[in-house]
Amino acid sequence: MMPRPALRTRLRAKKLIKTPGGRLSLHVMKKKVGKARCAVCGAELHGVPTLPYAKFRNLSKTEKRPERPFGGVLCPECLRRAIVRAVRGGAAP
Ligand SMILES: [Zn+2]
Repeated sequence: MMPRPALRTRLRAKKLIKTPGGRLSLHVMKKKVGKARCAVCGAELHGVPTLPYAKFRNLSKTEKRPERPFGGVLCPECLRRAIVRAVRGGAAP
């Protein structure tokens, strides 16, 4: 069973669905959206919505991530540590 050309990718999960008429039909599922995670420790980031890409795109910039340095990239604890290290003359995060 061959889906339409735009859906011929191995990146999306596929499922065989039985139609009411008894035929099998291949459904290509949407990609799952993962939660935003800290780039250093991998903790879940708050303030970053988990939405399908099409909906995430329609948000304003300020709705997509916290408005502070490294907002949406580092968790608050890792940011605090990075700032302290930078002030003390250590390497960048
Ligand atoms: Zn972190």
